[in-house]
Amino acid sequence: MPLTTPKRAVVLGGGWTGMLTAHVLSRHLADVTVVERDILPDGPEHRKGQPQARHVHILWSSGATIADGFLPGTIDRLLAAGARRIGFQRDLVTLTASGWQYRFPSTAFAIMCTRPLLDWTVRQAILADGRIRVRQGTEVVELAGGKERVTGVLVRDVASGGAPELIEADLVVDATGRASRLGPWLAALGLPSVEQDVVDAGIGYATRMFKAPDGAGGGFPPVNVAADHLMRQPGRFGVVYPQEGGRWLVTLTATRGASLPTHEDEFNGFAKTLRHPIVSDLMGVAEPIGSIFQSRSGANRRLYPERMPQWPEGLLIIGDSLAAFNPIYGHGMSAAARGAEALDRQLSGGGFAEGGTRQVQRALSEVVDDPWVMAGLKDIQFVNCRNHSTDPRLNGPDTAERLRFSDFVSKKSIRSPKVCELVTDVLALRATQAAMGSTSFLSLLNSDAGFPELTEPPFRPGELEMVGLKPSRVGAKGVLADGE
Ligand SMILES: Cc1cc2nc3c(=O)[nH]c(=O)nc-3n(C[C@H](O)[C@H](O)[C@H](O)COP(=O)(O)OP(=O)(O)OC[C@H]3O[C@@H](n4cnc5c(N)ncnc54)[C@H](O)[C@@H]3O)c2cc1C
Repeated sequence: MPLTTPKRAVVLGGGWTGMLTAHVLSRHLADVTVVERDILPDGPEHRKGQPQARHVHILWSSGATIADGFLPGTIDRLLAAGARRIGFQRDLVTLTASGWQYRFPSTAFAIMCTRPLLDWTVRQAILADGRIRVRQGTEVVELAGGKERVTGVLVRDVASGGAPELIEADLVVDATGRASRLGPWLAALGLPSVEQDVVDAGIGYATRMFKAPDGAGGGFPPVNVAADHLMRQPGRFGVVYPQEGGRWLVTLTATRGASLPTHEDEFNGFAKTLRHPIVSDLMGVAEPIGSIFQSRSGANRRLYPERMPQWPEGLLIIGDSLAAFNPIYGHGMSAAARGAEALDRQLSGGGFAEGGTRQVQRALSEVVDDPWVMAGLKDIQFVNCRNHSTDPRLNGPDTAERLRFSDFVSKKSIRSPKVCELVTDVLALRATQAAMGSTSFLSLLNSDAGFPELTEPPFRPGELEMVGLKPSRVGAKGVLADGE
């Protein structure tokens, strides 16, 4: 079958996904345009079209490695700008639903910094050679073409609100995120809606920036306190994540039924209701330096374009437009990077086969499957979660058994380094979920008793003193050196 490579592409949305996608396309096509509603800031700054950037973001090693592979030096540039490379689990203090996590030697990592720094660093590198045209302050109005083929996109200047203008293209990629208007755009072409699953635990985020205590330097570990879904109460989470510039970003998260703090008193009060006071204690030694920002965009939502009876040639969906996950698991940007990598693979193979956009879309849909089912399985356990999923793994006869297995693995993972290694690889999207069904992993689960349960947060000697807090009674218990 002859292969065709599109010649002109338009990427809708200039966020994380849109930029990586445009970069991949520009490796194979001469003519790539990005259409972005915002004016993109010339620095690591917030903008209207990316409200989630106020909240904590981590970039798992899978996503960071892909970005670094496309744009060599990205990780170094982020670190030079003050980002931290956090080894999982050595560099964190985490209370999971099953108890305190041992700080085992790290097998995966995440980049930790503000979201504007992440996006700006990557965007700068992508746009540096001027090969990609960016139409900023321009919004997508609708797709051009018909049921069989998309031939471009109609756009409008946001400031002047003038008449729509046609940008012709033989490939259009929707990367407009959770706000995507794909449904109405397809309807205007005479196509039905794409089937959609939603698993919505009613997640909300409230976030405030703090100046870290002077002694915290770059060495104080990120701290996580998770909810315990088995308590059958609305979930409450809290994290303190170091950011560039000697700052801590504190994010408090609630599932449906727990109210999200708006004012300072509520914010402090909420932190005290977490399963351990450490987040509240850390806030007590830090200085608030910003307002409290809220976000309610936490539902898991997945489209199934691969199930459409007819899919127009020349149209792809990627990133949050295709599948968005509960942010708690930190998978959105890495899943999107994996999507860009899958697209690169397809184009590197010599182009699209005839009628091939559909096949490429299938490859993009495959990479969102693991994060989708991981987030869904966790979230359906929260009280008041609305599970509108047709996925039998999340709503089928063996869902209860999957949940029991997942709880069993989680309990083992916090105390067994070998179990933890694979679980962390799966979380980092480096290994597939299927690996947890292997005979060797199952026998490890049953044979490895693991270390004794930790009863206190596993801070290293000196860590708490660094920020002026009293050391834990148990000192360095729970921190394991390599080879231990
Ligand atoms: C509170 C919160 C915390 C999160 N934490 C993490 C985390 O720790 N780790 C992680 O990996 N992910 C996290 N995520 C998810 C992550 O933010 C998203 O997965 C990621 O931003 C998706 O990027 P995107 O480019 O697909 O979409 P977006 O970031 O939404 O970008 C879409 C772009 O399209 C533009 N646009 C929209 N409509 C139009 C239009 N009609 N015309 C032109 N332009 C348009 C927008 O202005 C925007 O620039 C979090 C999400 C939230 C809500």
